[in-house]
Amino acid sequence: MLDFFTIFSKGGLVLWCFQGVRGPAATAPVNALIRSVLLQERGGNNSFTHEALTLKYKLDNQFELVFVVGFQKILTLTYVDKLIDDVHKEFRDKYRNEFQQKGALGLLNGTFDFKDDFMRLLRDAEESSKVRAPTVMKTFEQSLKSQKTVKCMIETRGEKPKEKVKNKKNKGSKKDGTEAVAAPSKASAGDKQLSAAGEKEELTKDEILQKNREEFFRRHMKAGEKSRSPKPDAQKEKGKKPRVWDLGNSNAKVLDYSNSATNGSAEACPVEEFDPDMALGDKNREPGRLYDLEYESDDEAEEEKVVQNPSKSSVKKGGLGGMFGMLKGLVGSKSLTRGDMDPVLEKMKDHLIAKNVAAEIAVQLCESVAKKLEGKVMGTFTTVTSTVKQALQEALVQILQPQRRVDVLRDVMDAQRHRRPYVITFCGVNGVGKSTNLAKISFWLIENGFSVLIAACDTFRAGAVEQLRTHTRRLNALHPPESHGGRTMVQLYEKGYGKDAAGIAMEAISYGMCGAGGGGAVLGQCRPSHCLPAAPARNQGFDVVLVDTAGRMQDNAPLMTALAKLIAVNAPDLVLFVGEALVGNEAVDQLVKFNKALADHSMAQTPRLIDGIVLTKFDTIDDKVGAAISMTYITSKPIVFVGTGQTYCDLRSLNAKAVVAALMKA
Ligand code: GDP
Repeated sequence: MLDFFTIFSKGGLVLWCFQGVRGPAATAPVNALIRSVLLQERGGNNSFTHEALTLKYKLDNQFELVFVVGFQKILTLTYVDKLIDDVHKEFRDKYRNEFQQKGALGLLNGTFDFKDDFMRLLRDAEESSKVRAPTVMKTFEQSLKSQKTVKCMIETRGEKPKEKVKNKKNKGSKKDGTEAVAAPSKASAGDKQLSAAGEKEELTKDEILQKNREEFFRRHMKAGEKSRSPKPDAQKEKGKKPRVWDLGNSNAKVLDYSNSATNGSAEACPVEEFDPDMALGDKNREPGRLYDLEYESDDEAEEEKVVQNPSKSSVKKGGLGGMFGMLKGLVGSKSLTRGDMDPVLEKMKDHLIAKNVAAEIAVQLCESVAKKLEGKVMGTFTTVTSTVKQALQEALVQILQPQRRVDVLRDVMDAQRHRRPYVITFCGVNGVGKSTNLAKISFWLIENGFSVLIAACDTFRAGAVEQLRTHTRRLNALHPPESHGGRTMVQLYEKGYGKDAAGIAMEAISYGMCGAGGGGAVLGQCRPSHCLPAAPARNQGFDVVLVDTAGRMQDNAPLMTALAKLIAVNAPDLVLFVGEALVGNEAVDQLVKFNKALADHSMAQTPRLIDGIVLTKFDTIDDKVGAAISMTYITSKPIVFVGTGQTYCDLRSLNAKAVVAALMKA
């Protein structure tokens, strides 16, 4: 019934293998397990599905071994867990001395004659699943209901059922009791949190966001000061000038935005509203460079303090150390048990949830860390807390650095060589910042010398096209054709509202291919039939086509089908899911359903799913950075861009260590 059973070391050495019905096919699923689960810290639930197979595995952290069993996923093999446990025990007991004495070298030279033992264990496990008596249903006589008399079921009016009253009383007193006991402890532990929450409750949502943004910029500036030159004083004074609301109506002209017949030309941009300095943000930055997300962790700050004040013995604890201080106990040369770790893991799970990691993922992550550490022998001066914390930290960094990196600039250049535009589609729910961040990405691409065609495929939300038109105008104002050899660097392809988005995207891509990069063409006029069939010269077309799509809720089946169609028909080079950093548990649902819709409606054999993530509004969350973890954990795809504000320069690349530092901060 089993396809295979294999035992290998964590270093990758196969020690023993049982080949079942499928023979050599074990290699591919085991490799997939190593790549997608063991190396990606997804070892929470001991089970993994690869094509038609289910793989169950167990880690031995003391001897660094992995036990994997594979069987057809349509089978329900109830004995597999027992088998894997028995084999684990037998194998390690049989070769314990060998592992302890010879170490890794012993594994290299060792021959493990385990076949007879394994066959015996397999037979035992199979037998034990057969002999278990089937569960028999209770007879009516055995049930509680049969013991009730008809009399006790009759309720007389006015008379309260005695038992119920009694129970109620008990419940009440129990509740009172627990509350009375729980209240003081809650108050003492959560005093700080409560007062903070109380303070926050008085603020409106906007004020909280504003506060978080200020905090983000404060940190950001602090970190930035280290690496970049200080800003001149004069620049600090700059800021958005307040609009003067003149009751005499003299501003009416300025406020009239009805003239939209501009199609993205620079001159038409209302000067009053658009301050190029504001839109550009930091003047000291290097044009076209995508800066890393910066974050100053408290640990660093406190480490500095310790260096400055070595004489002071009582140093405030930083990071999780402070939180779990009471759990710190030295566990010299002892192997870790689940019991040792459980209290620490419980606190860590709560900590992750408080940092906005989706609850389900926080549980899986802690479970994975527990599996990885159980049985591991700790060093003499290490504590359970520090060991678990370090393992979690490593796991988080690992998650944020998925297998495939997306290098947009390299891929755009590659597309250029093939004389075609590089196409990126943006999708996500409403209001997360798709259009705004699409504009930021356009700006970054233009600064890198690439021309951009924006396809307005949100034909649903009122104002969506106008919003992109305004961005196009502003981008052209910042990068006029004169400074790019007469080449218009960004144009908008629009067809108004109510039309089929997939069709518009297709036309835009064709337009981007034959293009009007030299300017002069009327936007929205190019039809695929007008395009040259052969690849045109590169400078006639656009380097990149950015497809904006309508925001949609993941539960809206018709809109999800339409998105899947747009992606299936146009086969973009990159499908970016735009998600805001404010999202909590909802992140899981959004991403799972977006991916599912794309898979369900894909026409390709291997369905086209989300390729990467744009994480927006990172400036509004202070250190509650958990959404980054939730999103990458679910998709196994990288966060390609991070939006950190509302200017064109507020685009960053993810810095996994910075995010993890923020996440671990107490
Ligand atoms: P869409 O409906 O997904 O296209 O969302 P929009 O692009 O219209 O953005 C919705 C709101 O979020 C706008 O007010 C944007 O200015 C704001 N926004 C977008 N990205 C960011 C960001 O990174 N930080 C902040 N603070 N606001 C952002």
